Amino acid sequence: MRIVAAKDLLKANDQLAAENRHFLAARQIFCVNLVGSPGCGKTTLLEGLFRHLDGRLSPGVIEGDIAGQIDAERMERLGVPVVQINTEGMCHLDANMIAAAWDGFTDADLDLLIIENVGNLVCTAGYDLGEHLRVVVLSVAEGDDKLIKYPAIFQRSNALVITKCDLLAHTNFAVPRARGDMRRLAPEAQVFEVASLHDQGMASLADWLVRQRQSFLSATGDN
Ligand code: MG
Ligand code: ZN
Repeated sequence: MRIVAAKDLLKANDQLAAENRHFLAARQIFCVNLVGSPGCGKTTLLEGLFRHLDGRLSPGVIEGDIAGQIDAERMERLGVPVVQINTEGMCHLDANMIAAAWDGFTDADLDLLIIENVGNLVCTAGYDLGEHLRVVVLSVAEGDDKLIKYPAIFQRSNALVITKCDLLAHTNFAVPRARGDMRRLAPEAQVFEVASLHDQGMASLADWLVRQRQSFLSATGDN
C-alpha cells in the first residue's frame, strides 16, 4: 500500500511554485495572488483597479473558479488578457494549475499577472502559487472577526483590502479592530479601505501596486 503524506504534496507544490516565481521574474512579470472568500468583491476590485492603472502596467489575469467563466468574461470586457481555470470542485488553485494556465497568454505582453484565487479563506493560505505578493480581500459584510477565525491567510498576506466600505454604516464591522488584528498578524502588511463600485480608495491601491512592482524589479536586478 502506498501512502502519500499531504506534507509531501505540499512540498512538491512549493517546489513548483518556486519555479513559477523564477519563470515570471525572468520575464519581469510581477505576480499577485488575490485571495478572499466568495463574494468579498475580488473581481469588482480588479475592475476598479485596472481603470486606475492608467497604462502604467499591462495586466493579465488568471481566474480561478470551481465552475463557469463569468469573471473571465468581465476581464475580457475590459480588454484584459485572461485565462480561466475551472477547478471542478477543488477549493483552491495550486502551482501546477498556474504553470498550465501560462500557455494561454502566448500573445500577451504582460508586466503584471493577477491570480484571482478560488473564493476561500481556508486552504488557499497553504498553497504557494509562485506569486511575488499576496493580497487578501475582506468585505465589511463578512464581519471583522474573520482575522481571528482564519489567521493563516491574513498572516501570509502582504496587504489587506477592506472592501464595500460604503456599506459600513449598515454593519457592525469595526475598521480599527480589523486594522489592529492585521497589525498583530502581519505587521508589515498594508491596509486599504475601498468601495470599488464608488471608485473610493482605488487610486492609492493602484499607486501602491505600481510601487511594489518597481521594488520587485529593483530586487530582481532587472531595472
Ligand atoms: Mg470573482
Ligand atoms: Zn482547497
